[in-house]
Amino acid sequence: GQAHSIRHTHRTLSGLGGSEPSRYKRNEKLDQKVSLYTGDITKLEIDAIVNAANKTLLGGGGVDGAIHRTAGPLLKKECASLHGCETGEAKITCGYGLPAKYVIHTVGPIAQGGVGEDERKALRSCYKNSLKAATENDARSVAFPCISTGIYGYPPEQAVHEALAAVREYLDVHHDKLDRVIFCVFLPTDKELYLQNLPLYFPAE
Ligand code: ADP
Repeated sequence: GQAHSIRHTHRTLSGLGGSEPSRYKRNEKLDQKVSLYTGDITKLEIDAIVNAANKTLLGGGGVDGAIHRTAGPLLKKECASLHGCETGEAKITCGYGLPAKYVIHTVGPIAQGGVGEDERKALRSCYKNSLKAATENDARSVAFPCISTGIYGYPPEQAVHEALAAVREYLDVHHDKLDRVIFCVFLPTDKELYLQNLPLYFPAE
């Protein structure tokens, strides 16, 4: 398939409605930096895509499977040299056959036993540590899938708040190091959740 450059996929947030009161004040430095993309993360031609991996980093189903399929066997080879990854942590590799330069592998919390403070903190750490790995490697554009909300069972309507809050808090401090953060949603229901909640964390006015 054809790669999608961010030029063609990005959608800025001005114009998105939001009837609920904002939890965060507008930060004008972030206005053009955050966007929503609906579709396959492996198509994005950007500096880094984030993989919702498991602790082995050796590949799995869902977005992890799609990333490894598109990247090819060299990705698994590099991942095997990393000796796994703890929940909430992130490790970076090359993108190989992907249009993205890097893959940032992060391990979300397993939430099948319910969501408590540990799971919330771990999910926020995934987003923050992934952004940290990006900026440490001069990756200025990063796309996230909806970490933990597939096989790992984290309720999407709760995960969206952790994702948005973590990115907002990171960007408030490090906006000079990043040009774009893309929330890549795959399911129509997630698209709705992000459209609803993005203006609360990134108000356009
Ligand atoms: P986890 O194990 O962390 O729950 P999953 O891969 O099972 O990870 O699901 C995480 C999210 O990734 C889900 O919303 C799923 O729909 C989405 N997803 C699956 N394939 C892709 C893809 N190719 N691009 C982007 N998102 C995807």
